[in-house]
Amino acid sequence: MRLLTRIADVQRALDKEREAGRRVGFVPTMGFLHAGHGSLMHRARAENDIVVVSIFVNPLQFGANEDLAAYPRDLDSDLSLCESEGVDIVFNPDVTEMYPEANPFTVTVGEIGTKLCGRTRPGHFDGVATVVAKLFNIAGPCRAYFGRKDAQQLVVIERLARALNFPVTVVGCDIVREPDGLAMSSRNVYLKDDERRTALVLKRALDEATAAIGGGERDARRIERLMGSRISSEPLAKLDYAAVVDTETLDDLEQLAGPALLAVAAWVGKARLIDNTTVTLQGASSEGSS
Ligand code: AMP
Repeated sequence: MRLLTRIADVQRALDKEREAGRRVGFVPTMGFLHAGHGSLMHRARAENDIVVVSIFVNPLQFGANEDLAAYPRDLDSDLSLCESEGVDIVFNPDVTEMYPEANPFTVTVGEIGTKLCGRTRPGHFDGVATVVAKLFNIAGPCRAYFGRKDAQQLVVIERLARALNFPVTVVGCDIVREPDGLAMSSRNVYLKDDERRTALVLKRALDEATAAIGGGERDARRIERLMGSRISSEPLAKLDYAAVVDTETLDDLEQLAGPALLAVAAWVGKARLIDNTTVTLQGASSEGSS
């Protein structure tokens, strides 16, 4: 496994691989890797000849009051996980390598970035799209793997790749959870014991909504209220949103009449947590089926 920190070195290495006829699989991350990231690497390893993981905490996607400085980092442990997943190249640039200018050129995603998480994180998806556009140009033609844990991010990146014609196939991967159901996240490390128990309420809210839909509920506002009041019933949780939206446009649905994305976000202690599931009309949870 090679650790590279310079953009030009990654581009040169991957161009050489492609010239030799090898397919590149790419997994962008912000590090502090866990089994959720591992599952993306695992799939990339199975479907490609060369696997590249980027580890870069992207300042552009953090708001002024967010946790950029506190974001957890552990490069040694990250490199061990990459090694054990059979990764070939880890790209770990510093901020000046990625953004040499004080006022970087950025990508604007438009309306899709103002929904769901965009309401409380203005500019977040512009920051995500900017770094992913750069990373796609650094990795070159490849398959790129993203988790459905960040459902809105996946929608934004699929749009980005299509709209700006990146020669990249975007692959969505299922959410990996702790045994008790909590979606794995680097930010779970912020949770104290009682908050860790509280955090389970996000998945519980999604499960109750899925069960209600299975029982015939079709009214999106009622399903949102069900999820929202479940989350708000936990004293240590502060609801951000509970939404029932179209899986592609992320527009609010009124009545369920096809696949729907159920998405929730809440602050628990210092952590802002998100979770989601996709439901079919039968009410069967189909996380990751779209
Ligand atoms: P991050 O390091 O949080 O930016 O995440 C990097 C990639 O890993 C993104 O595509 C995430 O959606 C994905 N990811 C993070 N957590 C999970 C999880 N629990 N299950 C599946 N994918 C995940």
